[in-house]
Amino acid sequence: MIRIYNTMSKRKEDFVPLHEGKVGMYVCGPTVYNLIHIGNARPMIVFDTVRRYFEYRGYEVNFVSNFTDVDDKIINKSIEEGVDASVISERYIEECKKDMAAMNIRPATTHPQATREIGGMIEMIQKLIDTGYAYVAKDGTVYYRTRKFRDYGKLSHKDLDNMQTGLRMLAVTGEDQKEDPLDFVLWKPKKEGEPYWESPWCQGRPGWHIECSVMSKEYIGDTIDIHAGGEDLVFPHHENEIAQSEAANCCTFARYWMHNAFLNIDNRKMSKSLGNFFTVRDILGQYDGQVLRYFMLSVQYRSPLNFSRELMESAKTSYERIVNCAENLRFLLEKAAGKDTMTEAEAALLPEADAFRTQFETAMDDDFNTADGISAVFELVKWINSHVDENSSAAFLNKLNEELGTLTDVFGLILVRDKSLDDDLAAYVEAQIAARQAARKARDFAKADAIRDELKAKGIILEDTREGVKWKKA
Ligand code: AMP
Ligand code: ZN
Repeated sequence: MIRIYNTMSKRKEDFVPLHEGKVGMYVCGPTVYNLIHIGNARPMIVFDTVRRYFEYRGYEVNFVSNFTDVDDKIINKSIEEGVDASVISERYIEECKKDMAAMNIRPATTHPQATREIGGMIEMIQKLIDTGYAYVAKDGTVYYRTRKFRDYGKLSHKDLDNMQTGLRMLAVTGEDQKEDPLDFVLWKPKKEGEPYWESPWCQGRPGWHIECSVMSKEYIGDTIDIHAGGEDLVFPHHENEIAQSEAANCCTFARYWMHNAFLNIDNRKMSKSLGNFFTVRDILGQYDGQVLRYFMLSVQYRSPLNFSRELMESAKTSYERIVNCAENLRFLLEKAAGKDTMTEAEAALLPEADAFRTQFETAMDDDFNTADGISAVFELVKWINSHVDENSSAAFLNKLNEELGTLTDVFGLILVRDKSLDDDLAAYVEAQIAARQAARKARDFAKADAIRDELKAKGIILEDTREGVKWKKA
């Protein structure tokens, strides 16, 4: 049974899906006005892994994640560059998709975009006006009447009256059309040079929160299993989404609320506005996307994670140990061709290997504890390394290879070295092998051996096979 920490109840709950065998989950995606930073990558990697684990457990997952493609920051950038706002958003959606692919984040079942769902937003806003949950101000702005929604504050565990004191200031700073400082915008009038849409209230554009209420309804349903995002979204974004959706649809919006903690740098949230960020693109220039993925999953998603070079280096070393194990298995499998039957001794060992899978599942069932899940995989790697050799049967090696592949696939880790980073090494080794072959042909065995020893000193092992010389890292 999978247990999930629900921000709403502040405790871990058994996961019971709305429809048997199915999970409908919505993850708030990025605002696309720039390259994403590695803080934005944390929810992407975390919830892609959650999705993969549900699939591992046999669920069919409808995974929806939006792109916010209309927003002040996008508009400002479009004015700066003198292009249409859609040019900016389409450019950064494409860039974001490239980064996602490099981190082996699977595309969502649907990636809706706010600007393509305006009709649904107008419909929901109208419904809220008709039922008294929203009102139109003189200039055509539509506000949500927050106090009318009795459960407001239930997700962030905030008390409405305390909030009132904090927000009173707003009433005297230009938001005087509001009935109450707590009210928030559903639709706002256009400003000169901004993109706008026709609506019954004014030419304008939607407020931020309404898009997620509409898109999760459209692509999953009135009630969804899981709603997720970074913890900064709990208030006001998710609180406002609940107010909109539950008032409009008259039912529970999301059954489980999951929020990842921040990726920090020097113990402060990494963010564009603080300027303390690295883009995913920066990091991909230095590390394989798999290493970034490993780094993110090395702690459970509700714990803060501090970015540092040391931790990235340590993630690199750990990830490479797993890759080495997989490469060794593939290497031994080639040698074991034809040995299709497992020996009795090997078969007797298998339950020991199975124990790591149980350990992995226990960790992942417990609110997706990827830190302990990865430890289980590590122990499996150690076990494999000490139980396989050149005498192992193909059947045994295949079983272990499959086991390792299945578990690491839940973390989205591809067990093949990034070819682009290794190209230089490969070119060097191939050249040395060619030189050694030439020396042998010329019967200069001393030179051939010297080349072999030199490679060995660099951690490269050569293997003479019938198909030619093969090499691997020691
Ligand atoms: P934004 O584009 O700022 O709306 O962010 C997109 C997603 O990234 C949201 O789920 C945010 O909560 C999340 N996010 C932004 N910065 C961080 C960070 N430093 N650590 C973790 N998640 C973050
Ligand atoms: Zn959202």
